[in-house]
Amino acid sequence: MNPDLRNLIALQDTELKIASLQKQISDIPKQIETYHQELVRLEEAHQHRVVQLQEDTKRRRTFESEVDMMRARLSKLKDQLMLVKTNKEYTAMLHEIQMAEAQIRQEEDKILEIMEEMENLEASLKSDERELKARAEEIRKSVQACQSAIPELEAALVSLGEEKARAESNIQSELLARYRRIAELRKGIALAEARDELCTACHVRIRPQVYAELLGTEDIHSCDSCSRILYLKEAY
Ligand SMILES: [Zn+2]
Repeated sequence: MNPDLRNLIALQDTELKIASLQKQISDIPKQIETYHQELVRLEEAHQHRVVQLQEDTKRRRTFESEVDMMRARLSKLKDQLMLVKTNKEYTAMLHEIQMAEAQIRQEEDKILEIMEEMENLEASLKSDERELKARAEEIRKSVQACQSAIPELEAALVSLGEEKARAESNIQSELLARYRRIAELRKGIALAEARDELCTACHVRIRPQVYAELLGTEDIHSCDSCSRILYLKEAY
């Protein structure tokens, strides 16, 4: 294989590694932000349940004071029952008492319902707190891992940069310029493997004469369709 081509392949390989490392590094703040957002969401959901529990407590108190008032009214009704004189009055009052008792039972059922809901809420709040604590700890560790990975990634980037400079210095400037032009047009991929008479980047057939020259000579050829510089893997 043409040594220039071999160097170009090494250069592209290094540049792709650099691009991937740079992306890894630039993704870190986003990743950390995602972790923070998760934590905020968890805390909000927890806070929501805490508020719900407080509201249930208030509702329960309201119902309880209503029941107290109803009971006071009931006992007044019972006192009055002793004082009625006619049968008709007595029946009417008795009916009123029964109604009041039924109402109290209804209210007490509501209180029981609220108490049950509160019990469930309290239980889930406790397990929530444990889960929240555990997840917050996990997130804290993940964020720390993300942050502490940066220096290592940056060091790798520096050594890849040196590798890139070395590869570039080994390539004649005209070919390097051609490589750069194509790389700019083709999202950093200026080289394409030729295989089975096809350009593996754009999948267009390579002219037989060009393919024969790729196989038999050290001439550098480009794909007619995507302009990428072609190379054969077997020879590499
Ligand atoms: Zn092509």
